[in-house]
Amino acid sequence: MCERVFVNRPAADETPGGEVGDAGILHADLDAFFASVEQRDDPSLHGRPVLVGGGVIVAASYEAKAFGIKTPTNERAARRLCPNAVVVSPRFDAYLEASRAVFACFRNVTPFVEGISIDEAFLDVRGARRLFGTPEAIAAQLRTTVRADVGLPVSIGIATTKFLAKVASVSAKPDGICLVPAGGELGFLHPLPVERLWGVGPKTSERLHSMGIATVGEMANIPDRVLAAALGRAHAAHLHAIAWNRDPRRVRAPARRRSIGSQSALGRPRRDVEELDTALLAIVDRVARRLRADERLARTITLRLRLGDSERISRALSVDMPTDLNEPIVVAARELLAKAAPIIEERGATLIGLACSNLVPRDPLQLTLPFARPGRANRALDLAVDDLQSRFGNAVITRASLVNDSRLRHSFAEPLYES
Ligand SMILES: [Mg+2]
Repeated sequence: MCERVFVNRPAADETPGGEVGDAGILHADLDAFFASVEQRDDPSLHGRPVLVGGGVIVAASYEAKAFGIKTPTNERAARRLCPNAVVVSPRFDAYLEASRAVFACFRNVTPFVEGISIDEAFLDVRGARRLFGTPEAIAAQLRTTVRADVGLPVSIGIATTKFLAKVASVSAKPDGICLVPAGGELGFLHPLPVERLWGVGPKTSERLHSMGIATVGEMANIPDRVLAAALGRAHAAHLHAIAWNRDPRRVRAPARRRSIGSQSALGRPRRDVEELDTALLAIVDRVARRLRADERLARTITLRLRLGDSERISRALSVDMPTDLNEPIVVAARELLAKAAPIIEERGATLIGLACSNLVPRDPLQLTLPFARPGRANRALDLAVDDLQSRFGNAVITRASLVNDSRLRHSFAEPLYES
């Protein structure tokens, strides 16, 4: 796997207001998506030029692209360029499933995920620094997770704007990261050929070249009216804006999730409620941490169990005060577990899960209210643990009751389950 990181350090005189470290928008784009899924699922295709389609070729592996194949194209033309290519029929169900799994990885990092196609998304990770580290560290971790969980390569561009993050992800391909730090935007952008800009097709490219413009920087420095005369006012305004990295668009997440949950499979059926209690504490840690990362408070706590005979049951209760803290959720979860104890003892449980729902945004003002009763919720402690775990890994600090159970400690590493 090749990891290419381009870091354009800002020149000292080139930081007009922009703070270094502000680059927190990621554009994640799966590499040769359909073809990569085919190569993943059929080892005989590894390392070979693969074309997906029939009649019309809709995707090509990097090995096929190396022969100059650009998609979409027709099969005959593609075969002329690369006679040894293997042509496979598309399996859209498999692509959809892979896409869902990849987006679940994205949403484990931040709720601000804006999908723009089946294999591309913008992520705003500026709020995730405290939990998961720098945008660069987040991008590296995300690539590792997508590779491990879904088996696919993803390239990631990191920048201060959506537009530039997308340009950067092209530079990151294949299978790499490209970081454009705040302050280094124009140093990265201006030497690029104008064709790298959104909205510069063959016609515009030809016109710009006839004016002696080959790079983004050259175009940026052409006076407005000259560019407008050549391309029309709207088009010129758009190109000038992006040539100066002016893109105020925010990452727009779809409607927020209605619940946040996690679960642990238990292997063989357990009847011992104490054992389940230990598993439940680990789950509460994960779920509460996610609530805090999402800046939301939960009113309803639901315990979910799969019994020894595979029947699924759930028990729910509402807390007095919406919360994102471990302790009140532990209290509620234990109350629910105690209620379910007779059924567990009789029929055993093979899976235990917890979901927090009825979510409300955490209002910053609320935090200053003294609703954390003495001896109860301790936000400072929970945040300190979140911080330690994000810097040193989940195993660095854990509840005393989990320390002697390596199997449960292990379950910390499981991906979050979204209900
Ligand atoms: Mg792609």
